[in-house]
Amino acid sequence: MVKIALQLKATLDNVTNFHIESLDDFIWYLKLDCSKCHTQSEKYHDISLKESSSIAGSRGEANFIMKCKFCSQEGNINIEPVKPAADYTSEDSDDHAFKTIVIFDCRGIEPIDWQPGEGWACQGAESNTKFSAIDLSENKEWMDYDEKAKQAVAINEIEFKFVKKPMSMSSDSQSTPSNTTSTYESSLDQLRSLLPNSDAKGMSDYDVVRSATDYIQTLMKDTGVADSNTTESKTW
Ligand SMILES: [Zn+2]
Repeated sequence: MVKIALQLKATLDNVTNFHIESLDDFIWYLKLDCSKCHTQSEKYHDISLKESSSIAGSRGEANFIMKCKFCSQEGNINIEPVKPAADYTSEDSDDHAFKTIVIFDCRGIEPIDWQPGEGWACQGAESNTKFSAIDLSENKEWMDYDEKAKQAVAINEIEFKFVKKPMSMSSDSQSTPSNTTSTYESSLDQLRSLLPNSDAKGMSDYDVVRSATDYIQTLMKDTGVADSNTTESKTW
């Protein structure tokens, strides 16, 4: 399981609060990559919060389920809307900032491409004129005229990127490989520091664990096996 944020950047001319009109109705057009064999979609899949199906062999549901044509692995995606919904403002545009607009909770498949589609809205930066039903599917840009402010308005240079969100240990038991390595290394270092002999540094991992276990057992015999108040047992 991996959480992938879709981040958006755009240049806004005389408009602000560029956003999705209705997250419930919005359709995400995504191309996907199979995490197992890396076969990629040729066309965009339609993924929506309104759609939901049961995951085979599980009680869970997902907004999108796909079986890889090549390796048959089943993958799924759940849409996690950003709350409150992200508004891409004129300040974001001035800062050339990327802003997260949605998070995809992915298993076995990952998004690699996105097409913004339709159902967008924004408003005049000073006039507050509402612009809705903006369709970005053709050119990925939009132009109009703000009657109230008497000026041209536009959204262009839309860019996006997918960013993997780091997982916290509590929300997912599958830690990242780097975490596993560092936990493993620090545990070994703790064991090495327990060992009375100074050449523990040159020992293999297996020998460190075995010698430390032997050493702890000797300590336990010395201090009384079931004594949970010893400092040694608190360390563990
Ligand atoms: Zn595959």
